[in-house]
Order: sequence, then C-alpha cells, then structure tokens
Amino acid sequence: MRSRRDFLKLSALLGMTGLVGLSKTTPAFAAVKKQPEAIVVSTWEHGLAANEAAWQVLAKGGRALDAVETGVRVPEADPKVRTVGYGGYPDRDGIVTLDACIMDEHMNCGSVAFLQNIKHPISVARLVMEKTPHVMLVGEGAKQFALQQGFKEENLLTAESEADWKAWLKDQKIQQINIENHDTIGMLAMDAAGNLSGACTTSGAAYKMHGRVGDSPLIGAGLYVDNDIGAATATGMGELMIKTVGSHLVVELMRQGASPEEACKQAVLRIARKLGDYAQFQVGFLALNKQGQYGAYGIQPGFNYAVQNKAGSTLIDGKSLLGAKV
Ligand code: ASP
Repeated sequence: MRSRRDFLKLSALLGMTGLVGLSKTTPAFAAVKKQPEAIVVSTWEHGLAANEAAWQVLAKGGRALDAVETGVRVPEADPKVRTVGYGGYPDRDGIVTLDACIMDEHMNCGSVAFLQNIKHPISVARLVMEKTPHVMLVGEGAKQFALQQGFKEENLLTAESEADWKAWLKDQKIQQINIENHDTIGMLAMDAAGNLSGACTTSGAAYKMHGRVGDSPLIGAGLYVDNDIGAATATGMGELMIKTVGSHLVVELMRQGASPEEACKQAVLRIARKLGDYAQFQVGFLALNKQGQYGAYGIQPGFNYAVQNKAGSTLIDGKSLLGAKV
C-alpha cells in the first residue's frame, strides 16, 4: 500500500516538475551543433561488459546498430546473468521464454517475443527487421524463422535456473517485479556519425505465466529511438511500461525539451500518479539524446546503468522517486 509519506513525496515532486511551460522555456536542441562523439549506455551492472563489446564497434567508427546488437549478445550468452538469454529465469512451467527488440536510426525495427530455445533473440529480432516485411514474430513462428536463418535450437535452462525454479515451485509465491527478480538489458548507442540505435533483450519476469510477454520486445514500451531527438529504454515491471508506452513517452518528453534525466523522471511520475501503489514496484528508464547527454530515473533506489565513451567506462546510480530527498 502506498503510504501517506509516499503520497506527499509524489505530490511534492509533481508540483516541482510539472511539464507546463517546458517547451516554451526550454529551447529545442536544434541550436546545438558540435561534432558527435560515440557513446553507449545500458541498464544495470551487466551493462558494463555489454558496453565494452559495443564500444569495440563504436571505437572503430562502426554503426550504432551493430554496436547495440554486439553489446547485448554478451549478457544473452552469459549464464551468470539470470535475467537475459541463456541461464535466464524460466516461467512458472520451467520454460525459458525470451523477448527482444532492436531499432535503428531510420525507424526500422524488429522484434521477437515468447521465443524458446534460441540463445540470441536480439539477432533474430534484427533479422526480422532486415529480412521480413514485418516488425514482430512470436513463439513458434519466431523460432521457425530463426532456424531457417541458421540459428541452432538449444536448451537455455541451466542447472542453476532449474534448481531455483524447483525451489520456487514449493511455495509458488507470485513475484512482483521489484528490485531483485528482473534485470533486462536495454542498450542505447550513438555512433561517430551521430546516429542512434537501441536494443532490448530479456527473459522477462521470473516465474511469469506461460505465454506472458513484457514490454521489452514492444517498440515504444521497452525501447524507442527517434534519430532526430534521442532514444530510451526501460526495465522493471513491463506491464507498467506497456500501459504508458513508456519509452516512447520518454522520447516525446525529450522532444518537448526535457533533458534525458528529466524525461525519465516525468515518465516515472506519470506511472506513479496513475498507479497509486507504486511503492511496491520498480520501473526504470534510461535515455540518451542526440547531443550524447544521458540520464535515468526509477521508482526504487538501486537502478544503475553503465556508460562508455572515449573517456572510459562507469557505472552510475540512477536517481529514483523513493530515493528522492523531498
Ligand atoms: N521489463 C521486463 C519485463 O517486464 C523485466 C525486466 O526489466 O527485467 O519483462
């Protein structure tokens, strides 16, 4: 339940950060002209290794699209990352089902959802974008397409994930997405040509209902890129990002003049205001604008993100609604 303290904090934040007048008082970004500098940002600590791989592409002058695909393949293949790809938590029936999407600077996008037994959903999503007239393939159809494209069918349920699932079966406690049972990787990059792309990939909420699809493969909810403005991605309770088309909202707020952090904050406040009981959930947004500025905001403290550019690599704690000093 939302406490009176949380309510007062939300009211204070809403009062302070209303968007009224934002587009009038804050100039659009058009006036800023400087040489673009490559940068990549991604959600959570596993973003550090993913960014490093993406940076290999960007540092050589490669395309942002190639960078984000290369980057997120790292946690997809890493069984120690329990929330993405191989080794990800299964659903209630003990089946690992994966969601992913990718979007480039030309508004091209591709997506797969409820994909099983294929280790790299992000690369399948890219091929949906490049080789089909569609944006999204799901389930068996997505798998058949992947197999036709040369992907191998493999077991993604590791012994560790299987043991955890069996332990979970004993009490079958439905888990709300809060802070410890999820962690999608969303990655946003700008290349040396100043073009933006993004990728998002996940095994979704641990022990979700079989067939559940979250925000991560949904263009606009889990990821959005507008090469004129900026890009955004999301992590946390996917249902909330779907209801608010959250990543698209963040990009539109940047279009109105908000900084990346302010845009993420406004999207979080929108969710909190509509939800009431927001204190028991986590959502986090991460955004990068066309000037290479970035920022993030979540409901709960603990949402961090990784940044890599020519200055090096860092992990930053995102600000949060419940961590705000109001
Ligand atoms: N957004 C993901 C989902 O709802 C969860 C996460 O961020 O890990 O599937």
